[in-house]
Amino acid sequence: MKLSELQTEYDVIIMGSGVAGLYAALNLEADTKVLMISKKERKLSNSSLAQGGVACVLDFKNDSYELHIEDTLVAGRRANKLDAVKQLVTEGPRDVLKTIEYNVDFDRDENGELLKTLEGGHSRHRIVHHKDTTGNELVTKLLAQVEKRPNITLCDMTMATSVKRLSGGFVTDLMSGGEHRRIFSTFMLIATGGIGRVYKYTTNPSVATGDGIRFAYEMGASIKNLSYIQFHPTAFNSDGREQFLISEAVRGEGAYLLNANKERFMDRYDSRLELAPRDIVSRAIIMESRRTGSNKFFLDIRYKGKEFLSKRFPGISEGCLKNGVDISEDLIPIFPCQHYLMGGIETDLNSRTTVSQLYAAGECACTGVHGENRLASNSLLEALVFGRRAALDIEKQKKLGIYKVHGEETEKPVYGGAPLPRGMRTEIREIMQKAYFVIPDSGAIHEGFKRVTDILNRLRIGGFAIEPDYCEALSIATVAFIILREVCE
Ligand SMILES: Cc1cc2nc3c(=O)[nH]c(=O)nc-3n(C[C@H](O)[C@H](O)[C@H](O)COP(=O)(O)OP(=O)(O)OC[C@H]3O[C@@H](n4cnc5c(N)ncnc54)[C@H](O)[C@@H]3O)c2cc1C
Repeated sequence: MKLSELQTEYDVIIMGSGVAGLYAALNLEADTKVLMISKKERKLSNSSLAQGGVACVLDFKNDSYELHIEDTLVAGRRANKLDAVKQLVTEGPRDVLKTIEYNVDFDRDENGELLKTLEGGHSRHRIVHHKDTTGNELVTKLLAQVEKRPNITLCDMTMATSVKRLSGGFVTDLMSGGEHRRIFSTFMLIATGGIGRVYKYTTNPSVATGDGIRFAYEMGASIKNLSYIQFHPTAFNSDGREQFLISEAVRGEGAYLLNANKERFMDRYDSRLELAPRDIVSRAIIMESRRTGSNKFFLDIRYKGKEFLSKRFPGISEGCLKNGVDISEDLIPIFPCQHYLMGGIETDLNSRTTVSQLYAAGECACTGVHGENRLASNSLLEALVFGRRAALDIEKQKKLGIYKVHGEETEKPVYGGAPLPRGMRTEIREIMQKAYFVIPDSGAIHEGFKRVTDILNRLRIGGFAIEPDYCEALSIATVAFIILREVCE
């Protein structure tokens, strides 16, 4: 849809069409006017890339809520918010089952029972999955439902460049191609996903620049634990920049981690070996690289055989093959890279931020469920549970009838200006990679913080044209600034 065809006012803007945004939209009522925007194609998101699956307790003979809660707390080093973890674990299964009603096709055994796999840090087999392309399956099926709803307008290839708080709601500036448009909404749900592109090496796609976190920060919302970043131990180690993920489930199915000498080494670092939580495995790889003096690491799953591997991991098999690696015959070269953000826009159990009528859900939010480190496959679950919670609370607030945005005159943005100089984003990414990767470097953190502060100030007052590149640079600089400030303190 063209920007000129949009209405001027909506009840709710949902910024983002990943699992959090889509599932929230499906939980809003038919008379709620919703605008859902996606920066690029509707399906380009962290959600679509999720491989492993969704963690939830469905088998009460072999598993329990208590065990899932305990595993989540252990992974999070008990820095989690207990009431949020309980909500995640006890409400999550209902949401997962609801996605099946929306045609999501999780893998089943010959008796039709849902297959549940194991991932690092889980004490039970509890991850439901669709082969190794669970995220794509969820997004495709939820999107198909959203597209059928007459109350929801989807607007893709459309970037929000700024959001401001008004007395009755929000004014959002949108940009699509060369077009600009201001839209007013009574409620706003930020579901803009991760911040991977603040780093040089990340599993996240190009949209993950932390725009929503910047908007919330600029509106004065509390941002919490932004330095709680998860580095995935096993991204395919290509020399190019795109790092695709080799899911935890590959280790769950029995893959060995090998060092440059093709030896298993995890027993030097953790008794859980390859199935230790991912922060521990990432750190073990960096320590082992210092010990051996080599950055070469491999996953070995060859012994499972071609038939099993191509059926269980078709996406990973194909991705590796495109890079010249046949996972049934070759070792898979891997190295850690940025993967997930545990912190973000602070939210409560109903996904409310500290700013009235402003909600956040999914990876951009800090619900507190993950503590210092996310347990594998808890994030899609979080996106479902807290996306729904946001929608239900918005409906409750809307029914009170006291909130209503009015398209008031506010200062319009000036779009013209100087082009963004090349290299600013690259410089920030290099700083983050050096200062705050798997094992932080305190000298580089202090130096990096000063430089990022300078870059951010320059971006703010430099009179640059409001173009997508500029807006993303501003988001990346803001996020890097908050992370480094947090770890300097
Ligand atoms: C490779 C990979 C594998 C993963 N595997 C798993 C897994 O197996 N299990 C699991 O639980 N989790 C997994 N995760 C994490 C999980 O996928 C994400 O945390 C989760 O999907 C985030 O969903 P979301 O809805 O919050 O954001 P996203 O899915 O990232 O969606 C963000 C949306 O915001 C939009 N957006 C951003 N900025 C703007 C803007 N300025 N204007 C307009 N729109 C904007 C984007 O266009 C996009 O539509 C994985 C992540 C990756 C990257």
